[in-house]
Amino acid sequence: MPPAGVIVLVDHLTVEARSELMKRVRRSGTAPELVVRRIVHGFGYRYRLNRKDLPGKPDLVLAKRRAIIFVHGCFWHQHPSCAKARPPKSNAAIWKTKFERNVVRDKKAIIKLKAAGWRCLVVWECETKNISKLTRRLVRFLG
Ligand SMILES: [Zn+2]
Repeated sequence: MPPAGVIVLVDHLTVEARSELMKRVRRSGTAPELVVRRIVHGFGYRYRLNRKDLPGKPDLVLAKRRAIIFVHGCFWHQHPSCAKARPPKSNAAIWKTKFERNVVRDKKAIIKLKAAGWRCLVVWECETKNISKLTRRLVRFLG
């Protein structure tokens, strides 16, 4: 039994169908990404989106400041100890493999970017709910 107040969603989709759905959801221009873009734009900084020439295709690239911001969906990128990152009940093993692959890919991208002199910030989807907190964090990061 889950603890009181926790809703368990039964996943009726196959792994492939769910995977396709999540891919579509995470494509650029998701709500959390727009929140981050709006704040950074409000600072007057210029950025480029989804630069394919950089590892991990970062969501926001501020070339002049050598700064990169990833906006990660909590589910797909497996935000540690986040309720939104809970895997679907069915096909648990397949999901585990899929998620591990994503997490490793994210880590590798950041290692490569840092090695190339980029500063990296990861903003999780659930962290875009508190705008003032997120704004302070972005100010600290971008200077
Ligand atoms: Zn989260």
